[in-house]
Amino acid sequence: MKSFIELGLDSNIVDALEKQGITEPTEIQHLTIEKILENKDVIAESYTGSGKTLAFLCPIFQKVNSEKREMQVLVLAPTHELVMQIEAQAKLLASNGNLPITSLPIIGDVNIEKQIKKLKEIKPHIIVATPGRALDLMKKKKITAHTIKTIVIDEGDNLLDNTNSGTVKDIIKCTMRDRCLLVFSATISPKVLFTARELMKEPEIIKNEKKAALNPNIKHMYIEVDPRDKVETLRKLISAVEPKKALVFVNRGYEVDLATEKLNYHSIPSLSIHKKVTKEQRQKAIESFRSGKIKVLVSSDVSARGLDIQDITHVINLDFPTNASEYLHRAGRTARAGATGKTISLVTSKEMAAIRIYEREFNINIEKKNLSHGKLN
Ligand code: AMP
Repeated sequence: MKSFIELGLDSNIVDALEKQGITEPTEIQHLTIEKILENKDVIAESYTGSGKTLAFLCPIFQKVNSEKREMQVLVLAPTHELVMQIEAQAKLLASNGNLPITSLPIIGDVNIEKQIKKLKEIKPHIIVATPGRALDLMKKKKITAHTIKTIVIDEGDNLLDNTNSGTVKDIIKCTMRDRCLLVFSATISPKVLFTARELMKEPEIIKNEKKAALNPNIKHMYIEVDPRDKVETLRKLISAVEPKKALVFVNRGYEVDLATEKLNYHSIPSLSIHKKVTKEQRQKAIESFRSGKIKVLVSSDVSARGLDIQDITHVINLDFPTNASEYLHRAGRTARAGATGKTISLVTSKEMAAIRIYEREFNINIEKKNLSHGKLN
């Protein structure tokens, strides 16, 4: 494996990474940094938690011309939380490296006039945005499309799917032909590949081994339950495994609050995030979880996409994910940055077939477990 310097990164960026405790490239960084520095279009497949964000941010930082006060990079991500997270990493890199590179997060549901004012004031080199608001601001000519030299599409499997791909394509069409396009995705389906290829010149396709989409440091387990006993089983499970941090997934928003209430009633401090919770409350919940004030965060799928929280020891599927890619995204919230983690699913008899499918799909073993006498065996 090459070092960051050997991959072509400037020493000030390498020093900045070191301040973050990052000294050696991860595999995805190893495979992509040089290509991005060479201005190639890239489609990269890598599992969550593999260091995707820095794989694009580091070479982008090097390519930004900080002497020009103009918007040069647009990073698109599907959720507010992910936007905030990527932007925070960009700010950290700039401050740790003493680099005059500016960034700004742009999300929907926030006063657009304020955003316009900030864009004008800061003229950020890097804009990290959700697609809908980014397109609005481009149409209003507040994001200057003609100065954008690089577009990153994070979570490509989400952003290039049916509901979002129209907006993303419109954004790309607004920019100059010679801009560089980078797509990162945990899974690259034939559809995503097709859409991405339509938009790119001669993309470098970087694929991990087909079966390596799931982080190998995650141990997978399931407990068979009756649908009526799920929340009670969750309570017992949490008491049994005493997680440092557990992220619990529920399929439907209204059930998120039910589960949280029950846990709190039984003196397990927990908070919930889902679409109906305000942005401020969501951020507060995530902060309490991140800082360790609460040990359990209950979430719907959408809210937790891409969340990067250190030390999540357990991902618990209170409801079983309805497709393999969702299983992968949820499980990927644990075992970040070389740590190990456990994914435990509560499964009804109807959902047993899906267990076998995911085992085959990801080449993993999902081990059957039982809860008895306060222990997980
Ligand atoms: P990501 O896949 O971008 O969400 O990153 C997952 C986590 O890995 C983040 O907390 C990063 O700070 C961390 N990370 C990224 N690159 C490295 C690296 N080369 N060595 C160690 N940790 C890293």
